[in-house]
Amino acid sequence: MFTQKPFLIAGPCSAESEEQLMSIANAFKDSNVNMIRAGVWKPRSKPGNFEGKGKVALQWLQKAREISGKKVCTEVANTEQVELAIKYKMDALWIGARSTVNPFTVQEIADAVQGTNIPMLVKNPINPDVELWSGAVERLLKAGITQIACIHRGFSSYDESSIYRNKPNWAIPMELKRRYPTIPIYCDVSHISGRRDILADVAQRALDLDLDGLMIETHPNPDEALSDAKQQITPARLFELVDKLIIREPITNDTAQAKIDHLRQVMDSMDAEIIDLLAKRKNIGEELGLLKKENNMPIFQPERWREIIESRSVWGKKNEFTDEFILRIFETIHEDSIKRQMGQFKSD
Ligand code: PEP
Ligand code: MN
Repeated sequence: MFTQKPFLIAGPCSAESEEQLMSIANAFKDSNVNMIRAGVWKPRSKPGNFEGKGKVALQWLQKAREISGKKVCTEVANTEQVELAIKYKMDALWIGARSTVNPFTVQEIADAVQGTNIPMLVKNPINPDVELWSGAVERLLKAGITQIACIHRGFSSYDESSIYRNKPNWAIPMELKRRYPTIPIYCDVSHISGRRDILADVAQRALDLDLDGLMIETHPNPDEALSDAKQQITPARLFELVDKLIIREPITNDTAQAKIDHLRQVMDSMDAEIIDLLAKRKNIGEELGLLKKENNMPIFQPERWREIIESRSVWGKKNEFTDEFILRIFETIHEDSIKRQMGQFKSD
């Protein structure tokens, strides 16, 4: 089932009406989409939002499969939903991020699919915990499921300055890949981005890191979508986006060079994250500078500098970094911060 690479899953966040799904099915008929997605039961953060159309929407998905010739999948979160989805012959089921986070729920789903060997997709848990993610994979393996793929949909964080709806933390899917080299990982670009303008960049990054496919939410009228309107795109925009992606050569594990290239790509994306964090630290330093200036406080406070060095050395030691290494890094960072604050003191 999950053999094609890159594997493309697309379709609306939620199945809203028969017309909506037929419109998507017709658009995907002769495309390189491999599987149509649509949520039938929607986990919503707050009550009162659209919670999906339930059972009737499974019939729309069946019809979408007939029209498009594509496979179809939906999200399940309990035994009853698994049984209905199997009864209506879904080709694959996915476990959502809010379910992966809960071992009781994952076990309930694993028990419900035991003996069916239905292909399963496992989204990462909402928090950046690789153990919970791989724990869900193990529960399904134990239930005899042999066709499993994972979906990287990013991790929630209380960081309002982030451009992402859910931070990618690329090192986590990379670690999962290291643990299960034969299980494909697809990137759910839509839930990481939360907005249309960065979908293409996130999708390209996923392919650069050798992830095995993409999930992209697609809706005939994205602005009118009953859920996740801001991140959905039309089928036409999806095709444009996919056409522009650079598909890297598959990495064959038998050459040292391919392995080196792969690790370098992983490192590149980690360095990008480090710089992103440094930029955020810099902004906070500037905020601090203004406060010091307004309150007539000195820029350099030796006590604070001593605290920085001591705490960072302890954290560093836990990760086998020497005191000297930590001192050099934080001297450089701190010096830059002081320099910027001095600039603020001088201005006006
Ligand atoms: C979804 O795919 O629409 C969804 C609810 O995703 P997640 O579980 O990743 O939040
Ligand atoms: Mn969604």
